[in-house]
Amino acid sequence: MSTRHPWELHTGQHVRWGGTTITILHEPELDHGSYHVPARRSDTGRQVDMELSLAHTVEVADARQPVMDGWNGAGWEHYVGREDCPGCWSDAWPVSCETEGCGGLVHAEFEDENYDGDYWLSYRCDRCGSTDRPGEAY
Ligand SMILES: [Zn+2]
Ligand SMILES: [Zn+2]
Repeated sequence: MSTRHPWELHTGQHVRWGGTTITILHEPELDHGSYHVPARRSDTGRQVDMELSLAHTVEVADARQPVMDGWNGAGWEHYVGREDCPGCWSDAWPVSCETEGCGGLVHAEFEDENYDGDYWLSYRCDRCGSTDRPGEAY
């Protein structure tokens, strides 16, 4: 756990405040001996303005990577933009999305298998949501 003094805070940082995570919207401003820090709650989206004295420290929140829930009910979680996504079917996944201009990653989950032991996967892009089977899968 790391803490910051008010003058060490920067726009875009995530900190813990009042039991929730807030994002700092502007560089802290020193005003009459305390720092005025405009921020937004991540849960409600409401703006909260912190007033921090020079002696104050705040706890920096982990920048959690956005997670995409698995889609076939197996409880997997996929990490958006992460090439070593732990929720994917195998190390070969995810692969680059082929939708033009997307730039996302296509994740794979086990879907089903038949009596011959053949199995198939299902796919989802973490940016455009495409469920097309990527060419790399053939
Ligand atoms: Zn994945
Ligand atoms: Zn895509």
